[in-house]
Amino acid sequence: MTHDRDYLIDGLSALVGVAHVLVEDAAMAPYLTDWRKRFTGHALCVVRPRTTDEVSAVMRFAAEHHLAIVPQGGNTGLVGGSVPLGLGHEIVISLTRMAHIRTIDVESDSLIVEAGATLLTVQEAAQNVDRLFPLSLASEGTATIGGTIATNAGGTAALAYGTMRDLVRGVEVVLPDGRVLDLLTTLRKDNTGYDLKSLFIGSEGTLGIVTAASLKLFPLPRSRATVFCGVASPQAALNLLQVMKAQAGAALTTFELMPRLAIDLAIKHLPSIRDPLANKHAWYVMTELSSLEPEGAYALAMRLMEGALESGGVTDAVIAQSLAQADSFWALREGLPEAQTKEGASIKHDISVPIVDIPLFIDRVTQELKVLVPGIRPFVFGHMGDGNLHFNLQSPEDMDPREFMARASDIHALVYRHVIEMKGSISAEHGIGQLKRSELAVTKDPLALDVMRQIKQILDPEGRMNPGKVL
Ligand code: FAD
Ligand code: ZN
Repeated sequence: MTHDRDYLIDGLSALVGVAHVLVEDAAMAPYLTDWRKRFTGHALCVVRPRTTDEVSAVMRFAAEHHLAIVPQGGNTGLVGGSVPLGLGHEIVISLTRMAHIRTIDVESDSLIVEAGATLLTVQEAAQNVDRLFPLSLASEGTATIGGTIATNAGGTAALAYGTMRDLVRGVEVVLPDGRVLDLLTTLRKDNTGYDLKSLFIGSEGTLGIVTAASLKLFPLPRSRATVFCGVASPQAALNLLQVMKAQAGAALTTFELMPRLAIDLAIKHLPSIRDPLANKHAWYVMTELSSLEPEGAYALAMRLMEGALESGGVTDAVIAQSLAQADSFWALREGLPEAQTKEGASIKHDISVPIVDIPLFIDRVTQELKVLVPGIRPFVFGHMGDGNLHFNLQSPEDMDPREFMARASDIHALVYRHVIEMKGSISAEHGIGQLKRSELAVTKDPLALDVMRQIKQILDPEGRMNPGKVL
């Protein structure tokens, strides 16, 4: 650092206004600890710019004074990417004051929005013009567009609409030296060289700051049907998925798997949750169909479930009869992380494998884990339609939580060994951040890592963008 703290804070205050440079411990605290409260760092200050020009000025100042930058949106990330490490010269740049929708162009199904707007704001803005913005996450009321781009968020509608990468037409990015890279196109087609926007999608704040995005809009479905089914096994769920994909096509928007333990713990810990089906089943699928026809989704769900019950593909099924019942199914699904927390110690993985291998993966890995830690309770759920499982493990009922957590590295090693063998991913959804940095280093192809480092070197030669994250 070339100057003292007061000089730097005064300089930043001159750029964004003194009220928007937070320096007091109490004011900074919410920005310095991650959502799960596993990572806390220190920062010189938290800067809250209002415009792209202000972000650019702050970045120029940071470059001049060799300050490191931690971009932050809603701070809902699950891998510690949005909080500083505490290296002594980091500033957090929070984008939440940049929350305006710049334009909506219904004819070209495009919306341009500032990076700090929440995902919910964008969903609502789209709905107001009779369109859908399909990305959907339990954290959508707080997670921002910039954060969902920087983490290439997935969620529960990725099966039909893809991840954030599939929903972005263009981005505006402030580079580490303060230059503004304007890639904010609404064009559907543009083959004029490298796809630069894609570099920033999933880059977790390590290459630049996303300040705005051009997003794709879709027709707003006129009906939805939410279905809860009991199935005998993950293989039965996979068979059901194949049948539903073939018969419903793009109408199949959600396909989530969960085990009986998930239902039991949700009922035990979450007051509003009821058992969705009369009898208990080993596994469950929660699926949703959407249609542009007013009664279309329900009719399709009825037809599919009658077929599945008849063939024995599902053992029981209920189609939500009201919005309230559909909401209760979603509350169960989205409450699973909370139910896990309330039950006690758990060890989590966010993995993907080829969809066809999911039953074998679950079977093989849970068997080996039960040998490694007798009594371990697999709580494996998630976006089966995307091949993405939250492969979570609840501590044995009678084991001291510290003793269980001490086994974490053995458990991770076992799970990741099988993931790599099956050509899967150790982080399907939540990214790398600080949490999985060392695991990335040993599981990613060395040449791929080398190319990533070279790209980082070109855009951020001093390594000031989100240091200690990803690479
Ligand atoms: P932050 O947490 O603030 O930041 C995340 C990363 O992006 C950090 O590395 C940060 O430096 C970087 N970043 C943030 N803003 C910018 C920017 N403008 N420019 C450059 N870099 C930036 N994720 C899923 O994918 N699918 C899910 O289903 C899902 N469900 C969740 C449910 C809950 C209850 C919670 C708490 C989280 C969930 N997440 C999920 C994780 C998280 O919500 C997403 O990763 C989300 O995209 C993060 O957005 P954010 O604005 O909070 O980003
Ligand atoms: Zn998820």
